Amino acid sequence: MKPEHGEVAEPPDAAARRSVAPVICYPVSGLPAPDLDAYRAAREGWSKVDEVIVPPREAACFEVPAGSFFRIVSVEGSQVGDLNLWAAGDLTERFFSGKTRALHGTHLSTGDRLWSSLPYLRPMATITHDTLDWYGFDAWGGSVHDVIGTRCDPYTHRLLSGGEYHHCCHSNLTRALAGRLGMALEAAEPAIHDVLNVFMCTGFTRDTGQYFMKASPVRPGDFLEFFAEIDLLGALSACPGGDCSSEHSSDEAVCHPLLVEVYRPLAPPRGWSEPPRNGYSRRHGADGA
Ligand SMILES: [Zn+2]
Repeated sequence: MKPEHGEVAEPPDAAARRSVAPVICYPVSGLPAPDLDAYRAAREGWSKVDEVIVPPREAACFEVPAGSFFRIVSVEGSQVGDLNLWAAGDLTERFFSGKTRALHGTHLSTGDRLWSSLPYLRPMATITHDTLDWYGFDAWGGSVHDVIGTRCDPYTHRLLSGGEYHHCCHSNLTRALAGRLGMALEAAEPAIHDVLNVFMCTGFTRDTGQYFMKASPVRPGDFLEFFAEIDLLGALSACPGGDCSSEHSSDEAVCHPLLVEVYRPLAPPRGWSEPPRNGYSRRHGADGA
């Protein structure tokens, strides 16, 4: 029980109410499953067409055409990355961390998909390999690659410490997007959104339900691999928290670069086609239907 709770006496049937079994909010059995065998077969003979180094405490953008793959690779040392994705050419269609969490759970791995914002709500990318898949959930309930955190940002830092820090992931992503698209910082900032926390090890404490982080288990050579379902613009920040074992809004932590690799297959995966935008009519009942 949360320590601040308990002011109100339990009703007589409290135990019965607590004992109700949960149901999964969004059973994903209704979703078309990605054909991972076909995706993996498409790697045969692929070629690396781009490489982007993300410097420590900075972010960088990259593009991945629909039907290609990209990898986020750990190099030099344990380092966490904050990932944003947009539909190339349309910043309004962006990664929807919250719905991805509702569909796939708090942490993502092979076979999970990164869904786009409303009204698009379609897979932007599918995870096709995760070298940290072995980690599972640890004794604290921690796991890797979460969609429960948001991204470290200077506003929360200001709230909690009163200080100014300019290399939080939010600012890094803002600078990178502005630079890539030739936009003013103020124009780019609203396009920055909640991230996939690549390689970050996180969970919620069992006693207070608070968001926690711990040193990432990632090591150089580890990677997370994605298949681009649509044309993507990505931005990745090498978090100032480094391996996120202590803090993440300062220059204190040891930080390392991250590598993004883009691979083009000889042919798209067998049977694959670009997912269409969500088919909902968008009438929202306005016509009385
Ligand atoms: Zn960060």
